Order: sequence, then structure tokens, then C-alpha cells
Amino acid sequence: MVEIVRHLRWQDLLDILIVAFIIYRLLLIIKGTRAVQMLIGLGVLLVVLLISDILRLHTLYWIIQSFWAQVVLALIILFQPEIRKALAHMGETPFFQPLASASELKSFDEIVRAAISLASRKIGALIVIEREDSLNDFVEIGTPLDAKVTKEILLSIFHPTSPIHDGAVIIREERIVAAGCFLPITLRSDLDRSLGTRHRAAIAITEETDAVVIIISEEKGLISIAYEGKLEGPMDMGTLRDVLTSLFTEKKRK
Ligand code: ATP
Ligand code: MG
Repeated sequence: MVEIVRHLRWQDLLDILIVAFIIYRLLLIIKGTRAVQMLIGLGVLLVVLLISDILRLHTLYWIIQSFWAQVVLALIILFQPEIRKALAHMGETPFFQPLASASELKSFDEIVRAAISLASRKIGALIVIEREDSLNDFVEIGTPLDAKVTKEILLSIFHPTSPIHDGAVIIREERIVAAGCFLPITLRSDLDRSLGTRHRAAIAITEETDAVVIIISEEKGLISIAYEGKLEGPMDMGTLRDVLTSLFTEKKRK
């Protein structure tokens, strides 16, 4: 042990730090995705491989070992979209991009205009915007979509005759990824009794994750916003836009 420490160069420390950082970033990327289950599966295979080696089960060992050789290639193909996104993110350092991007601002603008229009017509809506924490569990319950965020699409989704008007819309990186999503409902007793299930669902998801939720009340035609388990509102167009922009700028400064 002492020998090892004596031969440790500063480059080795740097090496260890970089590898640790890469592993940490990789874990963050796969957190909350199906990759986790896949990793567990691969772990099981590795254990079987070790056991078959120890017990000298030659055929089993040979099959799994040949499979392993293909695993790296298979992983690259399966996770191609994630890898591409991760590489793209590497270029964005927080120091140079402290503000919401232009496309993000455009998407907020569409959301704000949709909210105003829905509120004036007293159409209820629930719009969840993902931040760092993955909302995959909720996306999977809903109807999958992959649409650019526009006022028109949001209005069509929440129109009372739409088959997916019930439940929440989930927005991830300027795309509507799902509609008709069912969210958990908070059972907190300290909330205003007049708050119905829609508002309680908005509060619950922001208690569990760092998502930001815009709620349009059907009964009152008013707009509120929820984050960190708090409900703010009712608010007008300008305030909604300011709150949204500052919440997403704050995220990037962290
Ligand atoms: P409003 O002011 O619009 O009436 P509210 O807080 O009083 O809102 P409800 O009247 O109970 O809430 O709203 C019912 C609607 O809210 C449902 O039709 C559904 O679209 C949506 N909703 C309720 N609970 C959930 C949930 N857990 N997840 C997603 N959407 C929900
Ligand atoms: Mg109600």
C-alpha cells in the first residue's frame, strides 16, 4: 500500500479524478431511464459469467463471453440518441450560457400565450416542464407525443373534445413528449380546501421532482404556477413569463 502511495504521480490523481467525473456524469445521464434496468441485466450476466468460469461450465461461459464482445457495439447503437445528446451538452459550459436560450424563450412564449388563451376560455390545463429530474415515469403513463411546443398544439390538446385533454402535458427540452399523463396527488392537509385535484397534482409533482408546472383553472379561468411544492398565482401574462424565465435561468446558474 505504502509502495503504491509512494509511486503515485500527480498525473495519476488527475487520471482518477477525470474517470470519477466521467462515471458520475454517466450515472446522471442514465438516472431515471431504462438504461438502469439494462445495466442490472448486464450485471446479472457478468455474475453468471463469473460463476460459469468458477464451475467450469465451458459452453455457458463461451456463449456469454462471445455475447460480451458485442455488448459495447449494441450499447452504442441502443443509446445513440442519449450519447449524441450528452456530447452536445458537453459543449455547453454553464459559464457561457447563464441565460435561457433563444429557442427556450420561444417555447416559453408559446406556453404563456396558450395559457392566456386557455384561461380566457376557461379551459382547464396542466403543463409540466421538466428540468433536471427525469419525468419518464409519468411520460410512460400518458400518450406519447413528439411535437414542437406551439400555442396551437397546446390549445388542441386541452380542448374539451380532445381525447387527451384530461391529465397533464409534459414538456422536455422544448418538445411536448406526452399528453394525458396522470400525476400523483398530494394529500397535504395544510392546503387551501378549495384546491381541487388538478392543483394538488401540480403541487405533488413539484414536491417529488424539480419540475415547473403551469395550471390553468377551469372553474376560475386563472393561471398559477407550481415549483418546489409551492403554488403561486393567480398571475398575468407578464408575471408568468418572468417567473418561467427566472426559474430556468436559475437552474443553469447552479
Ligand atoms: P379547476 O380549477 O380546473 O377545477 P381543480 O384543482 O379544482 O381545478 P379538478 O376540478 O379536480 O381540479 O380538476 C379535474 C381535472 O384535473 C381532471 O379532469 C384532470 O384533467 C385534471 N387532473 C386531476 N387530477 C389529475 C392528476 N392526478 N394528474 C393529471 N391530471 C389531473
Ligand atoms: Mg375543480
